[in-house]
Amino acid sequence: MSQFDVDLFVIGGGSGGVRAARIAANHGARVMVAEEYRVGGTCVIRGCVPKKLMVYASRFADDFHDAAGFGWNVGEPSFDWATLIRNKDKEIDRLEGIYRSNLEKAGVEIVDSRAVIEDTHTVHILETGARIRARYILVAVGAHPTMEPAIPGGELGITSNEVFHLERFPKRIMIVGGGYIAVEFAGVFAGLGSEVTLLHRGDKLLRGFDEDVRDALGEAYAQRGINLALKKTLTRLDRTDDGIAATLSDGSVITVDQVLVATGRRPNTAGLGLEKAGIVLDEVGAIPVDAYSQTIMPSIYAVGDVTNRANLTPIAIREGHAFADTVFGDKPTIVDHDLIPTAVFSTPEIGVIGCSETAGKARFGEIDVYRTAFHPMKATLSGGKDRVLMKLIVDKATDKVVGVHVVGHDAGEMIQLAGVAVTMGATKADFDRTVAVHPTAAEELVTMRTPVVVKQPQAVG
Ligand code: FAD
Ligand code: NDP
Repeated sequence: MSQFDVDLFVIGGGSGGVRAARIAANHGARVMVAEEYRVGGTCVIRGCVPKKLMVYASRFADDFHDAAGFGWNVGEPSFDWATLIRNKDKEIDRLEGIYRSNLEKAGVEIVDSRAVIEDTHTVHILETGARIRARYILVAVGAHPTMEPAIPGGELGITSNEVFHLERFPKRIMIVGGGYIAVEFAGVFAGLGSEVTLLHRGDKLLRGFDEDVRDALGEAYAQRGINLALKKTLTRLDRTDDGIAATLSDGSVITVDQVLVATGRRPNTAGLGLEKAGIVLDEVGAIPVDAYSQTIMPSIYAVGDVTNRANLTPIAIREGHAFADTVFGDKPTIVDHDLIPTAVFSTPEIGVIGCSETAGKARFGEIDVYRTAFHPMKATLSGGKDRVLMKLIVDKATDKVVGVHVVGHDAGEMIQLAGVAVTMGATKADFDRTVAVHPTAAEELVTMRTPVVVKQPQAVG
């Protein structure tokens, strides 16, 4: 008889864990997965999916406004938060059911419990007290939102975990942070009709993104009436008769109905027992792994946000799949983290693959930059104020397009397709010989012919 109860024990039923469990089971492994909250994980339950549904809801405001210029009279629109939350919850329940049944169909046993590691081959299921011996353990426990630094009254703030279940629609909301989650929810609540203050410690939103993209989003958000409180931090929160009084580092006080803190996420490694298995965490609490997602302990692997490589759903899924193929499919597979297309579902939306102008210069030396900014055709009749920005970064030595940046309607959809070309190594000449689709906004990506003047890095030596 085998000395192991299962071939694979997966801790965490989110994007990475579910994919790994299913693929390993398809390869013939006996697999058990433990989930302490809801199967589907952050993305399905309280991340990408409910967020995108809210983004859709928020954009109807623009549609109602734009319709008038095209001759429509849609009356005075009104919005009901309770209906949105109810319908969103129904859809999330449906998706969780699908995730569960797909695991079951693959022959994976689901354990609804927190699980922790006892040693390199043993997992303790807290709900039942059972100890399961596993040939391999996959840690796919994801991450949680942080509320740092601790401030007086900090408990009055909420995170993205709570924002999906607010009983009442916040007429005034302060959102703290300048990353993906903060800018996405600022767009959502502004569209739904809240008075939004976006408080960020930096001088621009979305650090790490191309400077033109950051400027374009800042301008669009100011134009949309979002109060951008930059170069300031939150120092305390107090409950008052009128709501929550937020005191900022410059001494000013803004009173709102909710404060959403979106200042980053940390891996869910506390109390997981990793130290018992001899695994040392990095400075943010993430699990160090090699290119095959293997930890220093040969029987323990880790994928997804808990490894803090690229904290995106498609990456967690790929890492989980690659792990299962490597360990159970006799097909060693490495996930390339170099060229990752990504979208920020702000309004206007952002789509990016590859280098920013700054990173392109640092990495490739001489680059050409192509840039265009314009009012989209729809805005001619609708009177919409958003502009579209498109930018290509080209490595001069090879003519390869090494960066594509889009700000505007459906930028996420555009970048998925531009991403195919860039991943294939398309050159600027390839973009140029691609026939435009007219009239679209995306055609600008293949019709930019004259590079803007770029200050090239000085030759050294
Ligand atoms: P998760 O999906 O977080 O799954 C981990 C699971 O492990 C959880 O279900 C958790 O309950 C469980 N767990 C933890 N500890 C234990 C334990 N000890 N025992 C049992 N179970 C445990 N990414 C995108 O690509 N696009 C987006 O639009 C996007 N939007 C996002 C919006 C928000 C608000 C947030 C918060 C994230 C968003 N992300 C998005 C990021 C994406 O959700 C994550 O990168 C992805 O879910 C990571 O998958 P994972 O498998 O590593 O972890
Ligand atoms: P991010 O890391 O994207 O942003 C964190 C923000 O908080 C930054 O603006 C950062 O500022 C600021 N911040 C950090 N610490 C402090 C502090 N102590 N005080 C004040 N501000 C602070 O994290 P998010 O929480 O927005 O999202 C987590 C991750 O989830 C994302 O990075 C992304 O990987 C994923 N995600 C992806 C989405 C998508 O694909 N569309 C959507 C949502 C999330 P600074 O820039 O100065 O460091």
